[in-house]
Amino acid sequence: MAIDIVKSEVETRDNRLGAVLAFHGRASTLQKDSSKRAVKDDERIYSQCSDCSQGCAEVLSYMIRDAAIVVHSPLGCLSPVSIYERVEASSKVRGIEAPKIQVISTNIGIDSTVYGGVKILKAAVREAYDRFHPKAILIHSSCAAGIIGDDIESVVDEAESELGIPIVPIYCEGFKSKTWTSGFDAVFHGILRKIVKKPTKKQEDLVNIINFAGQDAYTALFKRINLRPNLIVPNSSVDQLAIMSEAACTISICESLGTYGAAALEQNYGVPQLKVSSPYGIEWTDRWFRELAKLTNRTELAEKLIKEENERIKPIIEGYRKILKGKRAYVYSGDSFAHYLTNMVREYGMEVVGVTTLHHDQTTDTKNPSLDTLGEMIKYTGDVERFSVCNKQPFIMYKIFSELKPDILITRHDSIATIGTKLGIPSIRANDINVLSCYDGSVNLGARIIDALNSNKFFKTISEHVKFPYSSWWINQKDPFYFDKKAETK
Ligand code: SF4
Repeated sequence: MAIDIVKSEVETRDNRLGAVLAFHGRASTLQKDSSKRAVKDDERIYSQCSDCSQGCAEVLSYMIRDAAIVVHSPLGCLSPVSIYERVEASSKVRGIEAPKIQVISTNIGIDSTVYGGVKILKAAVREAYDRFHPKAILIHSSCAAGIIGDDIESVVDEAESELGIPIVPIYCEGFKSKTWTSGFDAVFHGILRKIVKKPTKKQEDLVNIINFAGQDAYTALFKRINLRPNLIVPNSSVDQLAIMSEAACTISICESLGTYGAAALEQNYGVPQLKVSSPYGIEWTDRWFRELAKLTNRTELAEKLIKEENERIKPIIEGYRKILKGKRAYVYSGDSFAHYLTNMVREYGMEVVGVTTLHHDQTTDTKNPSLDTLGEMIKYTGDVERFSVCNKQPFIMYKIFSELKPDILITRHDSIATIGTKLGIPSIRANDINVLSCYDGSVNLGARIIDALNSNKFFKTISEHVKFPYSSWWINQKDPFYFDKKAETK
């Protein structure tokens, strides 16, 4: 079904893409069943922690330049705002000035919950406008706002005609979707609905790159093939978002991040999406540049770049391969990025003893098999016997890592590398995924793994001073997925 960017909100990933949060088995089983959309989410009858769609919405929207955010929620939903002090660091590595984080909470309390929160939302939007003079205001909804049924659309319509700037509702209520990444889609939907303008011209050298905040790994490479990246969404300006419709094509640096935004741009504005796995690993980077060249008529320039880059990094990669060959790795990260990391470490001749993804989308918004990153990983690098889907449950991680004892744990998110470290496993947190992309990305990952392996003693020393809080029953439990069963079978 075509994506409708006019309607107020996008359907959650749970319904749209059949996202699951609990699975364990072979990667090929998950992929085969996903292709028929036949994966049944195991029921996890005990969970230690969770996250929410609003978190993923924050990641994309808090750092939009010239925008203000009104979070229509109790103050607690706003607590992660403190981590955005990293805006300085993530802008510095990109070589640009940090955007101002301009966020206001409506602080929904008991009175608003009983009598409705529209009045305080209107006041907060006005306050955000007066205080920050933004080019757009994004309103994040929340569980409380969703449950009491506040009419956010009426506030949006009124404020837009009064203030004359886009007012963008983002429906990212935590209770609506068990899949956090639904928050990414909610932001893209809001931006496409309210900020992106109809194209007045085509910019044949402009390429939308949907990416996270962090280093710019693209501008210098793109310059060599006469292309300009439009890096979206975090750290971009409202004006940059408005012209997404004029670009020659769209690339998502992670399918889990950009599946909806890229597909919606293609379907609504005719901006083609690059339909190939993202540039993680040398072979996949070559392939990515070749497909990009086909879409933008730059084959000759791209072939030159591929040749030069391969020649440049070949001696480094070969040196790292000699050290890393046969080392046992465990990969634990978001859905598609785990598939990319698996491809990268296998290119180094490492053995992948297991992979866990935080969630799994059974399909993508385009349904194109080339964007099935799990399928591509299996096709290019082989199956993974110990493959699981688990949304950051430390008690499960503890069991998996203790049993498999990999030489290296490669993760992306906060806290997961900590579990490996506490177990004495050299662990790295590959937070800025841009740094791991393209040719230098492979070099960077190899160097980081070698550094971690060389710090083996440090990890061992930490583990000697850690006592996990689990009972002897859980420590001696054989099955890490003991709680991933139908409740009635327990
Ligand atoms: S939106 Fe809901 S799930 Fe998310 S932080 Fe607020 S209360 Fe928690």
